[in-house]
Amino acid sequence: MASIDTRTDAPQPGNEPTRFDVALVGAGLHGGLIALALLDAEPGLRLALVERDARPAGNHTWCFHLGDAPPNAGAWFERLPLIRWPGYEVAFPGFARAIDLPYCCLTSEGLATALQDAFAAHETARLITGCAVQALDAGSVTLADGRRLQASLVIDACGRSDVGRGGYQKFLGLEVELAADSGLARPLLMDACLPQGSQFRFMYVLPLAPRRLLIEDTAFARTADMDMAARRAAIHDYAAARGWVIQSVLREESGVLPMPWRGVPPAPTLPLKVGYGGGWFHPATGYSAPCALRMADLLARHWRAPYTALLCEWRRHRRQFRLGLLLNLLAFRGFAPDLMWHPFARFYRLPLATIGRFYRLQSTAVDVTRLLLGRPPRGFGSAWWRRGKTREVCP
Ligand SMILES: Cc1cc2nc3c(=O)[nH]c(=O)nc-3n(C[C@H](O)[C@H](O)[C@H](O)COP(=O)(O)OP(=O)(O)OC[C@H]3O[C@@H](n4cnc5c(N)ncnc54)[C@H](O)[C@@H]3O)c2cc1C
Repeated sequence: MASIDTRTDAPQPGNEPTRFDVALVGAGLHGGLIALALLDAEPGLRLALVERDARPAGNHTWCFHLGDAPPNAGAWFERLPLIRWPGYEVAFPGFARAIDLPYCCLTSEGLATALQDAFAAHETARLITGCAVQALDAGSVTLADGRRLQASLVIDACGRSDVGRGGYQKFLGLEVELAADSGLARPLLMDACLPQGSQFRFMYVLPLAPRRLLIEDTAFARTADMDMAARRAAIHDYAAARGWVIQSVLREESGVLPMPWRGVPPAPTLPLKVGYGGGWFHPATGYSAPCALRMADLLARHWRAPYTALLCEWRRHRRQFRLGLLLNLLAFRGFAPDLMWHPFARFYRLPLATIGRFYRLQSTAVDVTRLLLGRPPRGFGSAWWRRGKTREVCP
C-alpha cells in the first residue's frame, strides 16, 4: 500500500502533484544522500523520492572515512547523525596497527530520520514510500499504483549492480547488547586472526556504544553462497573468545557485494543511473559511501545540467575503478584463500594518506606505485601453484 509523506498536512493522493523538477527512485544510501543535498541546495525544489519499502533507507550500517566527504559538502552533511571515531584498528597474524584516519557510520535509522525531517520541512518535496517504480525514462516515472510522475531530471538509485564479474565480499552482522562494556574504543576494521580455510575471513567490529557492538563475519570468496547459521555461530564464538557476553541480539544485517576484476561502470546516460546499479562503488572495498557523498555534492551543484560534470566524474571514477579491478585480480587469482590476508596486511602498512585516498577512490600515481610495486606479499603465486597441483579450473 502506498503512503504519501509523513506530514499531517500532506495533500491526499488525489490532489498530489505529478510534475517535479527531480524524481529520484530508491531511498537507499545514494538516493537518500542525493535528496538531502538537493533539498539543502534548492529549498524550493519540487523533488519526489520514491521508495518501494514502507520506510526509507533499508537495513544497513554504512561506514566510511570522514575524509570521504567532499571538502565543501553542504550543511546537509553536517546534519547527518553520524557515530564518529578518531580511527580504527586492523589485526593480522604477526601484525597489528592503529590507523588514525577519522572513521564514522550512518545507520539506516539515522538516514531515515534525516530524510523524514528534511521532507517535512520542504513544502514542495514528496517522500513516497511503500510504492515501487515499475518503469522510468528520461522524463517520467511510473509507479506500481498507476501514477505517472513527470520530471525534468529522473535519477535511478535502485541499488543492485551487475557491473563487473569476479569474486564476492559476503558478510553477516549481528548488532548485540553485551552484559558489560566491551572495552573497545575504536572499530576493529579487519581482525584476520581467525582460522582461514577455503575463503579469506575476518571479523569487523563496530563499537556503537559501550555495551553495543556490531560484529560482522566477513569473507572474500569466489562464490556468493553463505551459510547464515554457521556465520551466526562464528560471531557468538568470536565474542566469547574476546570475553564479551552477549545479552541479546538486537538486529541482523547481511550482504553479498561484488568484488569484480572484469567490467567497468557504464558511461552516464539519461535517466541517470547512480549508486550500486550505476557502478558507483569501490570494486576492492565494496564501499559506495565515498561515491554517494561525491555524487550528492555534484548533483546539488549541477542538477539543472549535470551531464558534463558527471562525465568528468565518471572518467575519473573509471580510472580508479580499474585500479580496484587489478587489485582484486591479484588478490583473488594470485593468492590461495588461506593466504589472501597477506596483501591486506601489506596494504595496511602503507602511509595513512595512501590508505585514505585509496578508500575514497582518489589514489595518485605515487599511491598506485606504492600499491603495486615492491616485494610481492608472502603467498603471491600460491593460487597458481595450488591450482597446478589440484588441477582446479578457475571460473
Ligand atoms: C548490509 C550492507 C552493509 C554495507 N555496509 C557498507 C558500508 O559500511 N560502507 C559502504 O560504503 N558501503 C557499504 N555497503 C555497500 C553499499 O554502500 C550499499 O550497498 C549501499 O546501500 C548501496 O547504495 P544504493 O543507493 O546503490 O542502494 P541501496 O542502499 O540498496 O538503495 C536502493 C533503494 O532502492 C529501493 N528500490 C529498489 N527497487 C525499487 C523500485 N523499483 N522502486 C522504488 N524503490 C526501489 C530499495 O528498496 C532501496 O531502498 C553495504 C552493503 C550492505 C548490503
